[in-house]
This record gives sequence, structure tokens and C-alpha cells, in this order.
Amino acid sequence: MNDRVLIIGGGVVGLATALALACRGIPSRVLEKSGQPGTIDRGDVIHEGALRLLQKWRVLPHEKSEVLNVPDFHILGPRGQRLFSFDFAKDLGCEAGLTIMRHPEIEMALERAATNTGLVDIQRGVTAQSWLARNGRVHGVVDSHGAEYHATFSVLATGAGGAFGKNLFEVKRLHTYKRHFYNLLIDGVPGVPSSGCYCLSREGFMIMVPLPAGKLRIGFQVANSTELSAYRDPAKLGNEIRKRFPGFPRTDLTIHEGHYYKLARQLAHKFVTPGAAVVGDAAHTVHPTGGQGMNMGFVDAEHLAAALEKARADPAAAERHLAAYHYERRKQVLSIQRRTHLLGVIGEWAPNWITITTMALSAFNKAGPMKRRFGELFMNVE
Ligand SMILES: Cc1cc2nc3c(=O)[nH]c(=O)nc-3n(C[C@H](O)[C@H](O)[C@H](O)COP(=O)(O)OP(=O)(O)OC[C@H]3O[C@@H](n4cnc5c(N)ncnc54)[C@H](O)[C@@H]3O)c2cc1C
Repeated sequence: MNDRVLIIGGGVVGLATALALACRGIPSRVLEKSGQPGTIDRGDVIHEGALRLLQKWRVLPHEKSEVLNVPDFHILGPRGQRLFSFDFAKDLGCEAGLTIMRHPEIEMALERAATNTGLVDIQRGVTAQSWLARNGRVHGVVDSHGAEYHATFSVLATGAGGAFGKNLFEVKRLHTYKRHFYNLLIDGVPGVPSSGCYCLSREGFMIMVPLPAGKLRIGFQVANSTELSAYRDPAKLGNEIRKRFPGFPRTDLTIHEGHYYKLARQLAHKFVTPGAAVVGDAAHTVHPTGGQGMNMGFVDAEHLAAALEKARADPAAAERHLAAYHYERRKQVLSIQRRTHLLGVIGEWAPNWITITTMALSAFNKAGPMKRRFGELFMNVE
């Protein structure tokens, strides 16, 4: 196991895996189908545990203006009233609060850091199409032009979409959410809270998070994609947002991006197979409510790299070290997924039971230790 590890997919988690390996002196090659970094626009909330990993991997942005720290988070009711609030430092002892960096900037910072190690070879414009396997063991991939890439160990990091790798790791769809998600990037609007907000209303839930460089992330539940054409009109979009948060100012909106996501919960039955492992959304997808998917992928990257380091130092026990990644990490992921699934389902259910939900949240807000436990559970991605 002394050659380069082959990583298929150079999104945030594939690049994080390359970095976690490079920190241990293990070289890798990343195959990425997209010609340039920063084409995915989702996943900007970084939790404390994942932030520590980014610091360890020396993924620091060149520009301080690329990062924002949000010290508090609120769940707002249908009239914009605060139902439930976290001051991260005071309530959870988490001084960093939520660290916010736009997803394309996270990806570019990871790519820069990976390249700087001198141990990561990133090949863009390469789409992996099939596995190379012999005697039930993976030993590389074939791309869409028929070129072969050989490696003793391969890592699948191709995200939630696409069929590649699904059979190998037995990825199963466990739930399809009834309501989908529209994720927007707009210019910041004066008068909008500078905290992270989760707005509950009869229309469903909406997330509002300030982004660096004066931008604003808004994501809300939609019943289907036919609603979306209306939201390209800034005035109609403003009206939709006000149905979910009445305090949203009446002002001209500048929309930069809007993406529609069909949401499902997926989980790989196996995180490891002979000669390969799976990380990130390719292994597990969670509802975006908790802002956890990318953070969980960073933890996968670190755990897998640690297992591969042990496997290289002790080749006779390589399979045992890799099996530990499967058993331990899959168990942790399953427990996080169950909690986040509950939030996703409550988000679908709450609009029909808005009075009960708002009363329950207000009561829960006053229950100190329970509130703290709830915060710890949702910040924890291990
Ligand atoms: C609306 C929304 C909001 C979210 N917000 C947050 C958040 O705030 N915090 C958080 O932690 N998570 C969040 N997430 C989840 C987060 O975006 C994902 O968990 C994260 O992007 C997964 O990273 P990944 O690298 O595993 O997959 P991806 O980001 O999907 O990257 C996969 C990469 O593989 C490449 N690829 C695919 N197939 C091939 C192939 N055959 N050959 C070569 N390359 C290939 C793709 O081009 C892509 O670059 C959110 C998700 C959604 C939908």
C-alpha cells in the first residue's frame, strides 16, 4: 500500500481526504470531473469539530473577508418572534460559534492547501466510469475515455448524485422527504438579523444565514419544482420570504444563485470493500437542516486517513484497520443521521401543528440542561 491513494471526486470531502492523507505523508491522486473548483454552491456552515480539522490541515483562507463568525442562532415563529435561542459561547461554551465560509471558497481553500503539500495530484476533467477489479478487489478506475488509473487503494467521494459506486458500497435510499429545498444566494439586506435563523411558519421552514462579503444565504422548503419559476422574480421572491419571516424588509433583492434540491436520506451499507472506501455524501446524505453533511464528510476524511496510516504501518493487519473505519464511522454517522432525520421530518410536520410546535419550542428554550444537550448533539459530527 505504498503508492498514491486514488480519490474519485474532488469536491470538499475528496479534497479533505487528500489533505488528511498528506498530513500523514501519504500521497494521493484526485480525479474530478469538473474542469474548475467552486462550481457547487451549498454547505457554508462549519461546526467547531470540523473547524479544528481545517486548522490542523492548514486550510486557512487567504482573505479574512472570506470567513464570518456567527455567535448566535435563533428559531423564529410565524410572527418572527424568538422561540428558541442559542448564544454559542454562553450556552455551549463554543467561542467560535458557527464559522461561515461560502462553499466555493471552502473548496478552493482545500484545493490550495492540498496542492501546497506537494503530495496531492489533482486531475480535473476526468470522469470515472467503472471500477477496475480483480478477484473481488478494487485496484483502480476507468474513465469515460477508457484511460485506466491503477491504485492499491481507492476512495469514492463522488457526492450524493450519480450511480457510480452505489452498487459497490450498497448505498440505499432510506427516506425521500416530501418537501424539497430551494437554496439561494442573494445580496445582504439591511435590517435582516446578523444571527443564524431558522424560521418556522405554515409555509414550512426557512433558513437565513449571513455570509461573508455582505451576502445572505436563504433556503426554504418547497413542495415541487414548478413553484420555482416564480422565485426568479425578486419581487415575488421577497413576498415568499415574508410569508416565512414577516420582518424581512421590503427592498429590491439581488439574486445571485438559486438551486433546487430533492432531499433524501441515503446510507451505504458498507463503508469499506477490499481495495476501496467511501466518504462524504457518497456514503451518507443527511437533511440540510442541521448544516452537517460537509462537516461529517471532513470527519470521515480524518478517520479514513488515520486507518490508512495504520494499515500502511502494519500491512498484515491492514484489513482490520480499515474494517474499524467501517464499523466505528458508520455507527457514528447512523446516529447523527437519525437525529437530523427527525429534524427534517419535524420541519415537514410542524406547519400543520404550528401552535403546538411554537409552544413546545418556547418551553424547551427555558429548560437549561436539555437545551444545552440539544445544542451539543447538533454541533457534534462525530
Ligand atoms: C441546500 C443544502 C445546504 C447545505 N448546507 C450545509 C451546511 O451548511 N453545512 C454542511 O456541513 N453541509 C451542508 N450541506 C451538505 C453539503 O453540501 C454536502 O454534504 C457536501 O457538499 C458533500 O461533499 P462531497 O465532497 O461528499 O460531495 P460533493 O460536494 O457533491 O462533491 C462530489 C464531487 O465529485 C465529483 N464527481 C461526481 N461524480 C464523479 C465521477 N464519476 N468522476 C469524477 N468526479 C466525480 C463532482 O463533480 C463533485 O465535485 C448542504 C446541502 C444542501 C443540499
